[in-house]
Amino acid sequence: MKEIFYNLIGKQGEIPGDYLQDIGETKRVLERWTIDDEFRKMDNIEEGLRMIKTPRTLLEILPFIDKKEGTELRIKERNNEDNTYPLSVRRYRHFIKEKMAGRKDIRIGILPENQKFKYWRNRQINRCIGELGPIKADGLVHAPLAFELSKGCSVGCWFCAVSSQKLTKVWRYTNENAKLWKDSINILKETIGDCIKYGVCYWATEPFDCPDYEKFIEDFVLLTGRCPQTTTAIPDREIERTRKFLKLMDKLNGGINRFSIRSKEALFKVHTNFTAQELTYVELIPQNLEASSQYKKAYAGKAREVKLFSNNSKLNDNVQKEENASTIACISGFIINMTEKSVELITPCPASVDWPLGYWSLDKQYFENAQELSIVLNSMIDNHMNPSLPLLNILKLRKDLTWANCAEDESVEIVSKYLSIKFDRLIFTNKMLELISESKHTAFEIAIILEDIYKIELSLIMLQMNEFYEKGLFDEEPLKLSK
Ligand code: SF4
Repeated sequence: MKEIFYNLIGKQGEIPGDYLQDIGETKRVLERWTIDDEFRKMDNIEEGLRMIKTPRTLLEILPFIDKKEGTELRIKERNNEDNTYPLSVRRYRHFIKEKMAGRKDIRIGILPENQKFKYWRNRQINRCIGELGPIKADGLVHAPLAFELSKGCSVGCWFCAVSSQKLTKVWRYTNENAKLWKDSINILKETIGDCIKYGVCYWATEPFDCPDYEKFIEDFVLLTGRCPQTTTAIPDREIERTRKFLKLMDKLNGGINRFSIRSKEALFKVHTNFTAQELTYVELIPQNLEASSQYKKAYAGKAREVKLFSNNSKLNDNVQKEENASTIACISGFIINMTEKSVELITPCPASVDWPLGYWSLDKQYFENAQELSIVLNSMIDNHMNPSLPLLNILKLRKDLTWANCAEDESVEIVSKYLSIKFDRLIFTNKMLELISESKHTAFEIAIILEDIYKIELSLIMLQMNEFYEKGLFDEEPLKLSK
């Protein structure tokens, strides 16, 4: 019989139930494995599998929990020799690969029609690869916007990477707010383009803190044509609401959503109340202290404070190291808080003393109505998203970069902790880099000096400087906004 492997995302309602169940069962065992330390520590894994009443066998699970077995499977996949593995293993691998490709497709698929926004976002993506490394950078989709439908968050996670404060306000779906909501989405679409469909409707907020979250989502889908991803940390707070939400996601073709699992009890409650099939499209993110060690918290926000100032070794050990400074910020664009009617322009960076939340904040302004929102968005784009190198600003390389001539060819290499990029070593390139490294000349001044020394066209010099600019190599770190 021909073996079929389905792509699941965006195909709700089209996939046979037994296929979804099959994926869901493997996924469920792996969730138990990563979140429940006692399950992981059992001497006899087969006994553990019997205990949780899964149809999965040890052979079907081992490639996902054992490093050596996992490596072997991936090698066999590459050589097209994996057909000896159980069907459930190959189906689950197909699903994992589909999800990984989907994330990349989103990052590439976000094509702002506003050209200034487009060039600015591309530059931030390039900068992040150098500052965070290709692996971490690959996890950031650089979504163009996030709405917040409340102020603060009721959950209060000790590790909150965006340091959300206590919940103080919630935006309800009144007639007046519904109108502003729809108008705001339309304004964003007019300003940036259709790519706003890749936005989300939560940031430093818990989506389910807003009792009308689902109504806002339905409007978002109607106006953008895409259902935004939801991550909730309280799927266990009101089971019936979560159940209805999952049904709504099926109806709206909601892609992959996520439940943050803060304790083993929350996992057990979720597993008891929802079948494996119901959760096929939901990632359970291990956030509890007993979770497997690969789920350490990003060194940002409250987790960073814990690492720096807390003596609690259990919490401390659960946070990544400072030298791996990271971020969970996946927005290069606007954070729009509807309760206080504010817009903040942000882009990811490694968390640090200056940017403890793992993102730069370039601007924050307020609006009263949709017309003002339009003015604010356009002014931020004009003020912060210069499509070509500003001629009159002092030019500096990013702080994390060095440069050197390449020994083996006629190029010059710009090097960060994670990446090196080669450029043609033109007659003026070394001198240009020396002048830039002095951090006291504008781009215009440098171009004039080089033109004078080498008697070459200004346009050639500008071309190479702009190449550096597009790759995100110049220091664009903003001044910190006063709160
Ligand atoms: S991590 Fe999410 S749920 Fe937890 S406090 Fe922060 S915003 Fe709230």
